[in-house]
Amino acid sequence: MRTDITLLHPPSYLYFREEKRKFGPISDVIPSTPIFDMYPYGFFSLATYLNKKGYRVDLYNVAARMVLDESFDVNRFVEKLDADVVGIDLHWLVHAHGALELAKKIKQERPDITIMLGGLSSTIFHREIMEKFPWVDIIALGDTTEPVVDMLLDHRSRGKSLESVPNIAYREGKNIKVNSFSYVPKDISDYSIDYHKIFSSLFHASEPFGWIPFANFIEHPIGAILLYKGCRYNCLACGGSSYTYRKYFGRRELAFKSNDAILKELSSIVDHIKIPVFLVGDIQLLGRERAEDLIRKIKSEGLQFYGLFMEFYTPPPLDLIEKLTSLDTEVYFQISPESHIEEVRRFYGRLYGNDRLKDFVKGSIKLGAKRVDLYFMVGLAKQKLEHMETFSNFIRDIYREVPENERKRIDFFISPLAPFVDPGSLAFDFPEKFGYRIRARTLAEHVELIKNSLDWREMLNYETEFMNRENIAQATYIGAKALTIMKKEQGILEEDEAEKILLKLNQSYSEDIRGKETTDLRDLYPSEPLYNLIDEKRSEVLIMAIKKSLGLE
Ligand code: SF4
Repeated sequence: MRTDITLLHPPSYLYFREEKRKFGPISDVIPSTPIFDMYPYGFFSLATYLNKKGYRVDLYNVAARMVLDESFDVNRFVEKLDADVVGIDLHWLVHAHGALELAKKIKQERPDITIMLGGLSSTIFHREIMEKFPWVDIIALGDTTEPVVDMLLDHRSRGKSLESVPNIAYREGKNIKVNSFSYVPKDISDYSIDYHKIFSSLFHASEPFGWIPFANFIEHPIGAILLYKGCRYNCLACGGSSYTYRKYFGRRELAFKSNDAILKELSSIVDHIKIPVFLVGDIQLLGRERAEDLIRKIKSEGLQFYGLFMEFYTPPPLDLIEKLTSLDTEVYFQISPESHIEEVRRFYGRLYGNDRLKDFVKGSIKLGAKRVDLYFMVGLAKQKLEHMETFSNFIRDIYREVPENERKRIDFFISPLAPFVDPGSLAFDFPEKFGYRIRARTLAEHVELIKNSLDWREMLNYETEFMNRENIAQATYIGAKALTIMKKEQGILEEDEAEKILLKLNQSYSEDIRGKETTDLRDLYPSEPLYNLIDEKRSEVLIMAIKKSLGLE
């Protein structure tokens, strides 16, 4: 049946299956493979909202299908598309080639379909897209586009002019129009996701798993709840920083969901889908009162979690840790000090020292966190290759903070800042001031970088004052080897897993698209395959779809 809108997620490079590439560790600390097959959270909230409004919505992860199914033919898929509007995400800049190339293919084959882009990167580059890529018809601008797309679909179906629809760039004949950027909501409770409803409706589509959020989802499922939009920090290379939101998305303050809305969203995952949950955003930014109220409500609802992952931008106080670890589930904490060198960390925008970090790790382990993960990054301003010489000692210092038999509960990851310093970030807009050299500025230049880089190091859109791209790769691999050896010593990685990783690191630059290069996916997000987590009685829709996809019925 023809949909009102079909949302499509592209791979970063549309032709990745046709040539060998050295993917490297560019996606090693996220669930995606190196073609970035995970779509943004906004896809589910847009689909939930439009479904509620009565639109026929479909959602298809083209990237994941291409990874999982060699026989999946993009051209045939495009020919068969049955939609009035196709919405393609260009949220993360790494999808620049895939999004624009997929859009072009659809326009060539199916000129009857209106092509819309959306997401933060397409907002930043909306003028360039409309000027240089004529096959894109509309761009939804800003960080919250649910009511905008609703209005747009409604106006189109009634043949009404689009001039009163806020937050869009579009074509009218040969003219490019950019409407007022006036929709920047402070409350986003209305855009919460009903995972149960959305999963149920998507499972009934022709391909029950066409929508999966990322290729590894069936084996390593995890759901996400966004706590708010915006940020109060200004990490230099981040396109989700306070500076970027203010300058490019008109957001001067955070947009919150009510705690009841968060709770509903949580229960739609844990009651029905039964997978671990990642709370996206630092709960501390909710403010003390709101955060404590949320924890109280989670407890009084008696939600039965399957593991709860939380990230902190700064080490939280011990009493907050205590409240979080008292939840009736295994709680995993994540923090990104980025560098073990305090000066580098602070300059990047993480304003805390090593003593605070150690207290946080020690306190979390003592108070019962299942695990504390620390994330480090290479490619920071002021960072030098020789800093890696003291990296192992720093990790050992952290381990010494906790009793030997608890050390398995601390985990470490390192990755390069890759492939791009985000457009619209402070480092992108003021590179000299912040110690960066930016190699590509326009969207078209980034498309070329993605297309022409057979090796991940070539794709980086930056170098720093102290490190060129080769140094960035070297430092990443030195750090990854050190961590792998220490994880083996602590028993976090089995001997054979560690040896496999070390072998990959020694051979350098893996071409394996499903495996991680510097870490093990099971180490990243401990979870069980979806099939094992399902309680037949309560997730009939899910079990049916899994069986169908596995050919069991
Ligand atoms: S990286 Fe820094 S600026 Fe970006 S969202 Fe996280 S805390 Fe905010």
